[in-house]
Amino acid sequence: MSSIPETPWIWKNGSFIPWADAHVHILSHSVQFGSAAFEGIRCYNTPKGSAIFRLREHLQRLVHSCHIYRTEIPYTMDELVDACRAVVVKNDVKFCYIRPMVVRGLGAIGMAPYDSPIEVYIPCWPWGAYLGDEALAQGVDACVSTWTRMSPNTVPSLAKIAGNYLSGQLIKMEAMANGYAEGIGLGAGGMVSEGAGQNVFLVQNGTLITTPLDGTLLAGITRASIIDIAARAGIPFREQAIPREMLYTADEVFFTGTAVELTPVRSVDRIRVGAGKPGPITLQVQKEFLDIVNGRAEDTFGWLTYVK
Ligand code: PMP
Repeated sequence: MSSIPETPWIWKNGSFIPWADAHVHILSHSVQFGSAAFEGIRCYNTPKGSAIFRLREHLQRLVHSCHIYRTEIPYTMDELVDACRAVVVKNDVKFCYIRPMVVRGLGAIGMAPYDSPIEVYIPCWPWGAYLGDEALAQGVDACVSTWTRMSPNTVPSLAKIAGNYLSGQLIKMEAMANGYAEGIGLGAGGMVSEGAGQNVFLVQNGTLITTPLDGTLLAGITRASIIDIAARAGIPFREQAIPREMLYTADEVFFTGTAVELTPVRSVDRIRVGAGKPGPITLQVQKEFLDIVNGRAEDTFGWLTYVK
């Protein structure tokens, strides 16, 4: 268990406010109804300075999350990019997690948020490996959750919206209560969806496989990056609906996400995956990914935005 480490400043609506002043009213629409749109972005400490991973792609997803909910962010893409870079510089952190949030504030009395102001906050704080360095190296034990993920056309899974994370909370708490590091949700059709806050990949006979964007999961930016890395490395890849038992029979399973980066899964439901340790393709794409984001390999995909 851990709590968020405090940094001095939070960007709010175009200026910086002290961390302690970043309050919202209890009756804000987003507090009552879960309507905050948000992002989670990593900034890495590279030899050439602090660099934010796929910043524009993350901010584009934030814009899309808002757009789905008929909310237009009152800042341009370039302004949001500059704000994210500025908050890292202002807080003088070398590596961090950046959490842009678009909040509907106090105003609207009912479901429609139109009478609530649109407030944009960008906090950041230093953050290392989410599941720990050992998880990145050895892999984690995961379970399939008893909780089903949201179905298509219920709440939109492509929007990264606070309310969607009720599903992730249930999956994560149940996994922890049963002694697992993470849980994997199935869709209503019984096929693999995603983890509490990460996408799922597996390797079978040398082919990398992940689930399609079927309306039950978030389109992870790490997911897209791993697909790009695999394509360049000549690793065969396909999207396919994944039955639960394929998690048990796969040669390799891993999670991807901003928080978990690429974390191997060594068992699912106490059934060993492959050799019970990270497999060769997992290690290959993990190394490539971590080398690029940490500035140890050339950023040939153009994924890094330096803060200065
Ligand atoms: N699924 C969910 C539900 C998530 O919260 C996240 C983290 N944003 C992901 C997948 C992975 O997305 P990304 O790689 O963009 O962090």
